[in-house]
Amino acid sequence: MDLKGLLLRMLSIYSPSHGEAELAGFLLGVVREAADEAWTDGAGNVVAVKGRGAPVTWLHAHMDTVVGPLEVRDEGDVVRGRGAVDDKGPLAAYVEAFSSARPSGTLVLTLVTAEEDDSAGTEELLRGGPPRPDYIYVGEPTDLHVAYAYRGGGKVELSVGTRGGHASSPIYGNPFEELYAAYLKVKELLKPGGRYEDFSVMPTVVRCGDAPNKVPVECTAVLDVRIPPGHSCRELERLLEGLPARVRSCTDPAETSPTNPAARALVRGLLKVGVEPKLSRKYGTADFNLLISLTKNIVAFGPGDPSLAHTEDEAIRVRDVETAAQALRYAVEELGRWGVKSR
Ligand SMILES: [Zn+2]
Repeated sequence: MDLKGLLLRMLSIYSPSHGEAELAGFLLGVVREAADEAWTDGAGNVVAVKGRGAPVTWLHAHMDTVVGPLEVRDEGDVVRGRGAVDDKGPLAAYVEAFSSARPSGTLVLTLVTAEEDDSAGTEELLRGGPPRPDYIYVGEPTDLHVAYAYRGGGKVELSVGTRGGHASSPIYGNPFEELYAAYLKVKELLKPGGRYEDFSVMPTVVRCGDAPNKVPVECTAVLDVRIPPGHSCRELERLLEGLPARVRSCTDPAETSPTNPAARALVRGLLKVGVEPKLSRKYGTADFNLLISLTKNIVAFGPGDPSLAHTEDEAIRVRDVETAAQALRYAVEELGRWGVKSR
């Protein structure tokens, strides 16, 4: 398969979360040739299966991107466009690995929707569908590192309401200051910091007031909170009790052993293609956090500089996509030889 051609074609089809149908239709056509069976499910995921019996290995990547189309550019060794890093570079590598690998056992390709939003695609796969996995590779831009841990995360909504009033009157309180005080209280409770082991707290959407001469009726702030290992969404909710705060769409942190068989097979694959294997833990939150409920034999892996994800400068080296595809192919073939192993 012409991997660069595939990648450019995928980039030319804009696919924000819940708008992946056109890309899914295209990819179904691509993977059908290499699969015994391929279909789209109720959540719009593309699922392809080849081989039979144990072990069952999933290659999982997401088709959606954050919003904001970017011009698709072919600069030779590098291609640019929305999603080049997150997640179309990894996605292309996973499609190629699925198409070229000949493992014993069952190989399943799961290309999902809405990872950047509510993970509707992966939630559908957790409920059923293709054969249950013994091993999972999650396609994310890890710069070819083997990622075995993700922090959790949730959105904390702060909200302070008043009855409004004339901005010049001294009888009213100041809802903006109340909102800010609540934000400071959240920081005091969570003690955010820059280390992996710390919480992080970032105000993302802040709204207050609707007229220049009126006391704001409502002030709200959304805080993007990341949760380190050893802590949980329930704990976050408990900590914020008594504040004008609500925790929404929260995902617990997820961590597995860096020596689980999926990790070990990939390390061997990387050595085979001449890449020095490196382990990493991710500061964000991904479908990894959900898929770990299916098996602890899981790692995230893919080409692309994660610091470019979601930026206006998304770009990826074609050679890294090819390298990732080859390492993955070796890894799934190795797992086929190992059969079903626990760590
Ligand atoms: Zn992603």
